[in-house]
Amino acid sequence: MCGILGYCAEKWDSSLVKFFGLQGFNLQHRGQENFGCTFSNGKKFNHFKDKGLVSQVFTKERRDDFKALEPLIAIAQTRYATAGGTDAISAQPHWLTLLDGFYSNATNGDLPMLQKEIEDLEASGTILLSGNDGEVILKKVLLAAHKRNGGDLIAGLKYLMETTPGAYSGCLMTLTKLYLYRDPFGFRPLYYGRWRDAWVFGSETCAFHEPDATIEREVYPGEVIVFDTHGKKEHHQVVPPKPHRQKCIFEPIYFARPDSQVYENPAEVGSFRFQLGKRLAREHPVEDAIVIPVPDSGRFASVGYATELGLPLRELLIRNPYIPRTFQIAGQATREDLVRLKFTVMTSLLKRYRKFVVIDDSLVRSTTMKILIQMIREGAEKAGVDAKEVEVHIRLASPPIKGCCYYGIDTPVSKELAAASHSISQIARSIHATSLAYVSLEGLDEVASKFDDPKNFCHACFTAVYPTPFIPRTR
Ligand code: SF4
Repeated sequence: MCGILGYCAEKWDSSLVKFFGLQGFNLQHRGQENFGCTFSNGKKFNHFKDKGLVSQVFTKERRDDFKALEPLIAIAQTRYATAGGTDAISAQPHWLTLLDGFYSNATNGDLPMLQKEIEDLEASGTILLSGNDGEVILKKVLLAAHKRNGGDLIAGLKYLMETTPGAYSGCLMTLTKLYLYRDPFGFRPLYYGRWRDAWVFGSETCAFHEPDATIEREVYPGEVIVFDTHGKKEHHQVVPPKPHRQKCIFEPIYFARPDSQVYENPAEVGSFRFQLGKRLAREHPVEDAIVIPVPDSGRFASVGYATELGLPLRELLIRNPYIPRTFQIAGQATREDLVRLKFTVMTSLLKRYRKFVVIDDSLVRSTTMKILIQMIREGAEKAGVDAKEVEVHIRLASPPIKGCCYYGIDTPVSKELAAASHSISQIARSIHATSLAYVSLEGLDEVASKFDDPKNFCHACFTAVYPTPFIPRTR
């Protein structure tokens, strides 16, 4: 999963660099492994990409280079690696210079047939530098535009959408034009709007949380919007949107920021999670318990759960926000060590209460929840309470996850998913929960129906029924 962002302006405004940086910070939650940027003043371009957070990559030196060019177009990506490594080559944007000009592209989403796309491109003589979706899309579009359509990028993007299953919301730029595009299913969100005199865009509406910024609308599934540095804007519905979109329902469940909007609905993601918590409480109430959120993923659902049942909500689990994901990748810690590093338990609460209902957004492998329950019981012992007296009920604000995602969320392969091969009671036993329950698929759809027609959401990770062809993942 990634975030894309940027702008296209008629004239340079030195405060664009600050706005652009803030957009990156606001979309940092969508990817922490790489940040990269391409920018052009209409005649010249520059670019950089590297490992690290926006604050680590968009250094003073690079900001000075950016300002010096006075760019009228800029695109950028915050990356969470799902295809390709975390090295700078696999990071986005990708770029290349052809005889007729300069092109750069960044995307959000995954191609479920990526390996076949790579083989087809290589068979046509195309050289790929990385195994990354963004590079495959850039080269496929350019090949179609130049071989068959006289360099017409709209035709190249139309060919992409007609022939490439998958999830891609993207931004493609030349020296003087910016193209925003979104696959016909609309798996991943993409918005555009205005900031002062510039057109701006971002994966979520939190990229527009700045004074003077307004949201225009989403890029529609199957649409390409072209902006140029003379203030012109064109809309091209290059292929019809699929009758039932496949907007990722995991965006509002877990991934998107709570202060972003849920696709075209003006309501915020936090409100979606709150409603899910209320629905969970109606389906699986636990009476006379203290409601405990798993920070930060279970927060809004916990408030909904506690509100619905009139139960007290307390912070028992404290999360250390300074443990980077890369710590785990580097193999310096086992998954269990990482959970113990990330969370601690407030023992004072354990002295006073015996019955807890712990709320999280989802259960993937179940490792985290197992360790948290263990830590709560260890904390109780430390507080002088017999751990056997402590009830830990687990409630999850999404249905059981039964299939991995081929569209850009980094869920593990099916064999590692707890609910793919175990019943709910088996999982409850294995994590030593007093009880375990999930919100139902019907319950999720009932909440989703307040935001959009539930048929327009992808549910493949809950049903293991996929809306596109895919090459099964083995790792
Ligand atoms: Fe989202 Fe799940 Fe569909 Fe992937 S499979 S796009 S995570 S709903």
